[in-house]
Amino acid sequence: MTSAQRYPTARTVEEFAANLARVRSRIDRAARRAGRSPDSVRLLPVSKTVPEERVRIAVAAGMRTLGENKVQEATRKHRNLAELPIEWSIIGHLQTNKARDVAAYAHEFQALDSLRVAEALDRRLQAAGRAIDVFVQVNTSAEQQKFGLAPDELPGFLRALPTYSSLRVRGLMTLAVFSDDETRVRPCFALLRSLRNQAREADPDLIGSGELSMGMSGDYELAIEEGATVVRVGQAIFGARTTPDLQYWPDPALHDVPTPLDQQEPHR
Ligand SMILES: *Cc1c(COP(=O)(O)O)cnc(C)c1O
Repeated sequence: MTSAQRYPTARTVEEFAANLARVRSRIDRAARRAGRSPDSVRLLPVSKTVPEERVRIAVAAGMRTLGENKVQEATRKHRNLAELPIEWSIIGHLQTNKARDVAAYAHEFQALDSLRVAEALDRRLQAAGRAIDVFVQVNTSAEQQKFGLAPDELPGFLRALPTYSSLRVRGLMTLAVFSDDETRVRPCFALLRSLRNQAREADPDLIGSGELSMGMSGDYELAIEEGATVVRVGQAIFGARTTPDLQYWPDPALHDVPTPLDQQEPHR
């Protein structure tokens, strides 16, 4: 099955509502299978690459918090959709020169992976008189092209974060290895849970409520079985993306090189 067949594009309020209901019921079932309450899992719809016209329809279907990977795209949508009640969650790597934008409007930031970014974001937030929820991103797959701290860097990083008082640490975030092989994906999620547990034991004050943001369209049920409290789901709600994922997970060696402009779906 191609991803376009697996993830049909939602274009009407009814189609969005149907996709949401389908994902939500799979979340609930996965939670119950794991002996967890369905209420313990939050669904974060990810609207990256989705044109603003369709974001409006998603909001009409009841979505309130939306995830965006790229700050530039999020900032444009925030501006152009300012009259809608949307809370923006930034889930992709942040360059320090975009910290001001995130500080200005983001509700949460899920990809904190360096003290440089923490410092830049905190400075801008303090100036704006705001505070936001943050998740620390950990690279659990040991893949070169993934952002995030190495697992052994996490304890020291968490100890350093209280200095930045406008960042409210809520937990950890990760991307599993991209694979259909469950035996490779599951250990990434299990590792994040175990890092959270160790952090809690070391000092429960440093990890907030200990949330685990993990799981995407292809693997959120596995992630829930391994303890996810937030799943970030794009394609299964909005439809298959045509943009190659490489654009979202570039080589970290190229960190501060701007990636190509946000791509929009072709106009029909
Ligand atoms: C795009 C993205 C997702 C969602 O991926 P889908 O395959 O669309 O569900 C989740 N997390 C991050 C960081 C993303 O960039």
